[in-house]
Amino acid sequence: MTPLERALHERIRTEGPITVEAYMEACNSYYYATRDPLGAAGDFTTAPEISQMFGELVGAALADCWKRAGAPEDAIYAELGPGRGTLAADALRLMRASGFGGEVHFVETSPVLRDAQKRGMPDAQWHDAIDALPAKPLLLVANEFLDALPVRQHVAGVERHVESIGGHLAFDRDGEIVETSPARDEAVAAIAIGIAAKGGVALIIDYGHDRSAAGDTLQAVRGHRYASVLDHPGEQDLTAHVDFEAVARGGREAGTAVTPLVTQGDWLRRIGIKARADAMLRTNPERAEEIRSGLHRLTAPEQMGELFKVIAIHSPAWPAPAGFA
Ligand code: SAH
Repeated sequence: MTPLERALHERIRTEGPITVEAYMEACNSYYYATRDPLGAAGDFTTAPEISQMFGELVGAALADCWKRAGAPEDAIYAELGPGRGTLAADALRLMRASGFGGEVHFVETSPVLRDAQKRGMPDAQWHDAIDALPAKPLLLVANEFLDALPVRQHVAGVERHVESIGGHLAFDRDGEIVETSPARDEAVAAIAIGIAAKGGVALIIDYGHDRSAAGDTLQAVRGHRYASVLDHPGEQDLTAHVDFEAVARGGREAGTAVTPLVTQGDWLRRIGIKARADAMLRTNPERAEEIRSGLHRLTAPEQMGELFKVIAIHSPAWPAPAGFA
């Protein structure tokens, strides 16, 4: 039994069955607090860890939007759940070259990942929550952040729980599942309220669907393989599909403009990943295989190109970022 599993059985003994939301929250808090899960030796690999082109194009899109908004000097780069800080390093290299001189702010709860981020970005400032970000124009990015926030599950209108039976964890009911996520709604509202008040743009990149629909999307990944959600609590990554219809609704309700949802493949192609890859191939012919493989993994429909989606939330006073129309 994992240490967290023992604690969960104990908690259920005293409190009674816990909600799926509380289970996912407890598992992911423990999981991220105790390790760096990224990369070949870890549990999963994200787009910025596949190729520097991903972060560079995110940075180029943010810098372009910032310039067209009049290049406000008090704008800050903000990232939610920056992982190893790879995306920030690649994006900021491009943004600094475009004249962006603003501060760097990270929202990150994991001490292990904060340390990793500090190594690459010693001058960043860290926060526990989105609403602690400074009241300044935001150039914000959240890649694979919302999918880690807990979801609630309901079956026929009744909230689904995790119970402890004979030393095993089990779901208390099965049937057609409807997922909602107050934690994500709160995160989106916090981003959008900041942007509506002070200006800015947020790029939200994740895997998910464009319409709210019934279905159980909670999944566990361990060592790059799917695993059972109730096995090894706290030792595997739990995520659920992002409901982008809810994200768009949250952005509009807070008074921001919301772009159409586009696939990661289409977005990266529209903002120039092919030209970026060609330029890299010319200057680094010895890295040809890595560059071509990165391009393929980020954009091919059977890789990350269609499952992953991109949406932007922006101040009505700012132009929409490139790649959505
Ligand atoms: N964006 C990175 C990492 C994705 S993994 C990349 O693309 O590589 C999810 C990230 O979100 C991790 O950095 C994790 O520690 C952070 N995270 C998860 N839940 C969080 C929460 N509730 N508050 C802040 N950060 C959180």
